[in-house]
Amino acid sequence: MYTDYHTHTIASGHGTRDTIDRLARAAAAKGIQILGISDHAPAMPGAASISYFRNLRYSARERYGVRLCFGAELNVLDFSGKVDLPEDILRTLDYAVISLHPQCFRSGTAEQNTTALIRAMAAPHVRIIGHPDDEKYPLDYDVLVMAAKKAGVLPELNNSSLSPHGYRGDSRRYDILLLEACARHNVPIILGSDSHGAKHVGDFTWCRRLLEETAFPAELVRDIL
Ligand SMILES: [Zn+2]
Ligand SMILES: [Zn+2]
Repeated sequence: MYTDYHTHTIASGHGTRDTIDRLARAAAAKGIQILGISDHAPAMPGAASISYFRNLRYSARERYGVRLCFGAELNVLDFSGKVDLPEDILRTLDYAVISLHPQCFRSGTAEQNTTALIRAMAAPHVRIIGHPDDEKYPLDYDVLVMAAKKAGVLPELNNSSLSPHGYRGDSRRYDILLLEACARHNVPIILGSDSHGAKHVGDFTWCRRLLEETAFPAELVRDIL
């Protein structure tokens, strides 16, 4: 993998003090060619305000030979699929990840959670469903991945969920269900490190292991958005 579109800087408000520049330097050292910065959007406690996202367009797009893309990890806020950045700001970003987080979203039934994500896909520049493998949020994977395919959105296989330090419960079990549904319906996925800081940028160790174990078709693993 030569890309990583799910990474966090100090602007996410937790987990690291590393800046965009530090992440870019780490990406260069690991041979990552395209680095996406996807800091938590404003509804996450401690995350940057709207003006941070508004000003990303002024940030250097090439650092240490790495091409940078600027996005956001949006919080889906309710079952209507409302997200926490306004459309005019989203249009200035290269892409957005949509995620369910306990700080911002109260779980419902699998049908309600799935509907919330599907509705959130309609926001501008949404390209990735972040960590749809959290045991706190049951999902209907067949319905979700078919809707994602139709919308041109990629379900993510999230390395930090699968790592031994993961905090989304038995993610492995749900990632297997996700991969099975994607294989069944011929839906491509993308890998994301979800690195908070430079340390795990481009680290897909646990993703790779699961892809091998499940014999997931290599042609369904997308590298570029
Ligand atoms: Zn997340
Ligand atoms: Zn994240």
